[in-house]
Amino acid sequence: MSGHTDMVLVNEEGIRIDGRRTDEKRPIRIEAGVLKNADGSCYLEIGKNKVLCAVYGPRECRPRHLQDPTKAIIQCKYNMEAYSVTDRKRPGTDRRSVEISKLISEALSSVVQLELYPRASIDVYIEILQANAGTRCAGLTAASVALADAGIPMRDIVPAIACGKADDKVLLDLNKEEDNYGQADVPLAIVPSTDEIVLLQMDGNMTREELEYGLDMAFKAAHEVSDIQKDALRRRYTEISKKEGESD
Ligand code: UDP
Repeated sequence: MSGHTDMVLVNEEGIRIDGRRTDEKRPIRIEAGVLKNADGSCYLEIGKNKVLCAVYGPRECRPRHLQDPTKAIIQCKYNMEAYSVTDRKRPGTDRRSVEISKLISEALSSVVQLELYPRASIDVYIEILQANAGTRCAGLTAASVALADAGIPMRDIVPAIACGKADDKVLLDLNKEEDNYGQADVPLAIVPSTDEIVLLQMDGNMTREELEYGLDMAFKAAHEVSDIQKDALRRRYTEISKKEGESD
């Protein structure tokens, strides 16, 4: 987020370097149940981002000192693969991945019915296979679908998307260039049925009016992402019931 580049990020017609309008999100593809050995899973693409998520649980919480006698905990591991970015990323946990894991786990804890499973752990593994900005939103969106695929009771399925600012324009769903050279990045995740906010961050600078305008775009887009999540789960359930029908 340097705010300085010679590159034109949004041209005079309001078109961005990847051809999108300012209020347009990148194409999204979501598939639920892509891994056989996990309890739930999801593969998601948004633009050039590629994310795989696997969920295990609820199962006995290890290490045991983390157990909560009143409810389950969500242990989330966000991991960016070494080959996911243009400059090879040093493998393993770093401060950024610890922070992102924590905020995704907290966002998911707002919707999962944790009190149903005292002492248990729900483990969420998020692998970023290819990154192009917006991976925390992509990871959280995929994790929500994977949890639903695992049959874990939730009051809703969380979608996430960012808004931000580059070339003095408020934009939806920043790509890598806009994130790197833009002026602000604001990831948002919501509970669609109530419009509660379960994740909101901001770095950079925006006026109050710009932020309000950006959040309006992001809320609307998050509801569209929610429809795509539900559609992926519907396809998954149809597939399961078809298979069950065949084995009868
Ligand atoms: N990025 C990178 N190397 C890193 C971390 C990030 O190349 O070690 C890139 C990657 O494309 C990522 C983008 O910078 O998606 C923006 O990173 P940020 O920390 O803002 O998180 P994100 O937008 O992915 O949630």
